[in-house]
Amino acid sequence: AGEPRSLLTVFARILAGELPASFVWQDDRCAAFLDINPVSRGHALVIPKRSVQHLSELTTEELAHLWQVAREIGSAQQAGLGSLGQHFLVNDGRAASQSVPHVHIHVIPRYRGDWVKT
Ligand code: 5GP
Repeated sequence: AGEPRSLLTVFARILAGELPASFVWQDDRCAAFLDINPVSRGHALVIPKRSVQHLSELTTEELAHLWQVAREIGSAQQAGLGSLGQHFLVNDGRAASQSVPHVHIHVIPRYRGDWVKT
């Protein structure tokens, strides 16, 4: 409902079920799925269901929930994949090389020896 398809971002189309994705989390306010071009095994993107581009457009509650879910996914990666730590990364705005104009937190797991000495 609402916007014509051509105005939807790829992430809105994933949420709408128009494009496939490997979901790792889904609730009423946000979703997470694996990045199509992962930096490391399990690299996930956590996105709000409301399609806005910038962190500044989220309510405080939406922002808190998004980060809460991102933190849970980092813990699940450690428990399930054996990662030892993770990057939480947000490219917020075109000037910061945001390529999909729908808020997303990258949760990038790190494994022994794949990044810095561990
Ligand atoms: P950005 O540079 O905007 O922070 O990152 C966008 C991310 O979205 C990139 O890591 C890219 O690989 C990922 N991405 C772009 N298109 C798709 C897609 O259609 N499906 C999935 N799963 N990830 C995508």
